[in-house]
Amino acid sequence: MRTVDIIERKRDGAELSREEIEHLVMGYVRGDVPDYQVSAWLMAVCCRGMSQRETFDLTAVMASSGETLDLSGVGWPVADKHSSGGVGDKTTLIVAPLVRARGVAVAKMSGRGLGFTGGTLDKLESIPGFRVDMRPTQFLQQLSREGIVVSGQTPDLAPADRLLYALRDVTGTVASVPLIASSIMSKKLAVGAGALVLDVKVGSGALMTGLAEARELARLMVEIGAAAGKRISALLSSMDQPLGCAVGNALEVVEAIQTLRGEGPADLVELSTLLAGEMLFLADAAESLEAGQRLALEALASGRALEVFERWVEAQGGDPRIVGSPGLIDQAPFREIVESPRAGWVQGVDARKIAAASLLLGAGRARKGDPIDRRVGVVLRAKGGAEVQKGQPLAEIHAADAAVARKAAADVLEAFTLGAAPAVPVATVLERLGPDGL
Ligand code: URA
Repeated sequence: MRTVDIIERKRDGAELSREEIEHLVMGYVRGDVPDYQVSAWLMAVCCRGMSQRETFDLTAVMASSGETLDLSGVGWPVADKHSSGGVGDKTTLIVAPLVRARGVAVAKMSGRGLGFTGGTLDKLESIPGFRVDMRPTQFLQQLSREGIVVSGQTPDLAPADRLLYALRDVTGTVASVPLIASSIMSKKLAVGAGALVLDVKVGSGALMTGLAEARELARLMVEIGAAAGKRISALLSSMDQPLGCAVGNALEVVEAIQTLRGEGPADLVELSTLLAGEMLFLADAAESLEAGQRLALEALASGRALEVFERWVEAQGGDPRIVGSPGLIDQAPFREIVESPRAGWVQGVDARKIAAASLLLGAGRARKGDPIDRRVGVVLRAKGGAEVQKGQPLAEIHAADAAVARKAAADVLEAFTLGAAPAVPVATVLERLGPDGL
């Protein structure tokens, strides 16, 4: 098999066989196929697309390119969730304890924040002592013992995706629905939870800004998962405004704790309990989606999910006292209040602009590996639909110094759209997609 022939076939729009895909991908992992040839093939895929069968095959080849976890012996039904990335998305910190509190284990490998989207690992690491680097044996041990584990991706999990993703990043080949779907799903298949919910974000603060494109990505991922034998569904959720009020790693942990105490913002509670309900339903712990959400809401109201969160923090080396005293989490030294310049109704708060302000404060990374300040960020005091008076606080900036706080405050003010009439409410969840019969 000549690599150049495969590239030419894809360039001309042909459907590649599983063997051809394997030749390229595994050849690249072994170092037999050079990156200039893989880059050419990736660009041909971006221009010509891939059939559903090719996408399934690419996912399977990447998923089995390294170590895979066998969760069959852990003694629990196991569920996982994936978010396509947004601003203020701290749902994993809430959903995982909710699901575990109802008898379904959660096993999740998460990522770090990059660009305008935050990452669960960075949020968890703002808890003093919390460890996210685990070997597969430790991951499995904690899963069996506690029924809840969230760690960073082990280096040997789907190494083909890691290599291809790095190449896509520098060759303009990230924006391809089959490549994104196979990249995400290869990692999910390698971890091996039986039930999986996907939260595909749509809006200014998401990878997918349009509903049609988000729907296509969600549909393809659900099909890949179902073909691999998973119980899987996807929610398309709105990301025009940040989720909840807090944006910034430590600030989001504090908001997650408040939410587990029953004091969370409505959109965050709604999305978290819907996602948890999906996971309980998919893992056969609830007979319907409505019953699943009801079980999640009960776990919130009874305080059981908060107790699970506390045990989870301790199991991963973190200081469980943060649950009773969130002040133990490091805080930024400077605060600046953003006031409303006039009376009116908040029409919306642009998620991308809030993310840019929190990047400016140092909460996120422009490049992989950049250092971040976990203490800083933005807390919204008003969101779309709120009526505000002149001088009323719209947001609070948490910053490392006064000058950057002032600059970020100006940017945050620009994210707010004020109007003379009440805003049209925006739904938190726009659509649900499941495979046939689910
Ligand atoms: N996240 C991934 O893991 N892969 C992609 O291709 C895009 C986002």
